[in-house]
Amino acid sequence: MAVHKILRAGNPLLRQKSAPVPVEEIRSQENRKLIKDMFETMFAADGLGLAAPQIGILKQIVVVGFEQNERYPDARPIQKQVLINPLIEVMDAPREGYWEGCLSVPDMRGYVERSRKIRMTWYDEKENFHDEVIEGFDAVVYQHECDHLQGILYIDRLKSPELFGFNAELDAAGRERVAI
Ligand code: ZN
Repeated sequence: MAVHKILRAGNPLLRQKSAPVPVEEIRSQENRKLIKDMFETMFAADGLGLAAPQIGILKQIVVVGFEQNERYPDARPIQKQVLINPLIEVMDAPREGYWEGCLSVPDMRGYVERSRKIRMTWYDEKENFHDEVIEGFDAVVYQHECDHLQGILYIDRLKSPELFGFNAELDAAGRERVAI
């Protein structure tokens, strides 16, 4: 396994669309190693989720999973999942938001409103097909990660440019701690 370097905003690879993984290649040795590396990279960086383009691989693969760590003391646990070729259908209008952060935009956060209810289809790493309705915080995290596969960063979705900044400055100003 290997921890990869995480690309930061400004790297053009983060702005490209990722390609679907052919279903018959989901369990290839190359993809199995990539998924292991993505988990290792995400845990090493204390992230909640990581999309393959964040390590420069333009494939539609996302890993999520989170127990609890210092970076997000208030965040709820998220079950470990591999999302391959995810498709999202938004089921309600965006309402309240979260202060989101991103491993590709380090030390910063911004306020984004997203739908809390989505229907999502995807393959997991064992080639099982899922079709599920996902609600709440998980739905927010999945949307953030799946945006990466379309070349979209959360900074494109800020409710207002004023609701964005460095963590240290926002902490000093008493802004809510990062939730994602
Ligand atoms: Zn991100």
